Amino acid sequence: MEVILQNLTKKFPSRDRKKREDVIAVNDFSFAIPDGKLIGLLGPSGCGKSTTLNLISGLLKPTSGRIFFGEDDVTDLPPENRGIGLVFQNYALYPHLSVKQNILFPLENLKGKDKLSKEEMLEKAHEAAKLVQIDDLMERKPGELSGGQQQRVAIARALVKMPRVLLLDEPLSNLDARLRLQTREEIKRIQQETKITTIFVTHDQEEAMSISDMIVVMKDGVVQQIGKPQEVYDNPTNLFVAKFLGTPPINIFNGQVRGARLYIGEDAVLDVQGVADQDLYVGIRPEGFLLQEDGPLRADLRGVEVMGRDISVISGHDALLGETIRSIIGTDNKVNLENATVRFALKPHKVFLFDKKTEERVQFGF
Ligand code: ADP
Ligand code: MG
Repeated sequence: MEVILQNLTKKFPSRDRKKREDVIAVNDFSFAIPDGKLIGLLGPSGCGKSTTLNLISGLLKPTSGRIFFGEDDVTDLPPENRGIGLVFQNYALYPHLSVKQNILFPLENLKGKDKLSKEEMLEKAHEAAKLVQIDDLMERKPGELSGGQQQRVAIARALVKMPRVLLLDEPLSNLDARLRLQTREEIKRIQQETKITTIFVTHDQEEAMSISDMIVVMKDGVVQQIGKPQEVYDNPTNLFVAKFLGTPPINIFNGQVRGARLYIGEDAVLDVQGVADQDLYVGIRPEGFLLQEDGPLRADLRGVEVMGRDISVISGHDALLGETIRSIIGTDNKVNLENATVRFALKPHKVFLFDKKTEERVQFGF
């Protein structure tokens, strides 16, 4: 099911008495979410992710704009008539009901022509439980399950009616690191098996990058960029997006362009064609540094961290915004820790320039 958001805007009255202005939680969001895909809605806390999801679910009404599921305009439909499955961070299971009863619950409420026989209901509940691999836990109460198992029950309950759209709001946040990894792979598998259009909200960029077909990066209610995870990582539209994606994060420097050359401090580090002379921000991904004896960028060597496959060189620079430069290089490189200075060449496609005022990307040729 394609989900079309058309100029979707949600304003809340300000809670702050001194500030009269409304909070614009979602600001003019337009996007056609393709059928059968998993979309990661990503951004820091308070950027409008849950509000967007709640508008799609119908738990909230938009201030303006419209929502379509395929051809159907669902903007004025209540949640129960939209054909959605919802999963929240805090599972929200009925504690006094067994797993089976929890999963059956949405089916028991079906009315009229949708009403199912007891056998049909049990069969559907069993199918949903099998999909999330909890079919051997059907008689337990939620209190007798781990967090990961409880979240699987919540997902089974959301899936049992085979919704047109599955909406997940930070579903992994209550799980420990290992379960988080495992459960996110499960969600990906379930999504691929069922082909249900899925919107997955998270503030965790790695989580969103790893499971999404496409990500939507939001800030202050405004969509910053939409694209395949790798495309957005490789081609961020502004400083915010560049900083939000990637671990370790991108390194940001104050830089200058003079005569189509990019300077960081005194060092002319790169030829940048087509950029007028100006001060700007320079972002360099950790994997954008090459150890090179006569490399143009000189940094103060502080240390080295060996991380199995890679070496992380820790260094400092006066023009850096932040504490340390983190550069990741292959283990076949040797770093002499006796040296005070380490020198790098830069991979041009891992270097991004941003306007000082607008923080928008400044493109260059190399
Ligand atoms: P996220 O899920 O990305 O953390 P939310 O969508 O919950 O963000 O919130 C977006 C903004 O809208 C925040 O500034 C939040 O304080 C505000 N907000 C959310 N719900 C309400 C509400 N019911 N009343 C007033 N402001 C709200
Ligand atoms: Mg939220």
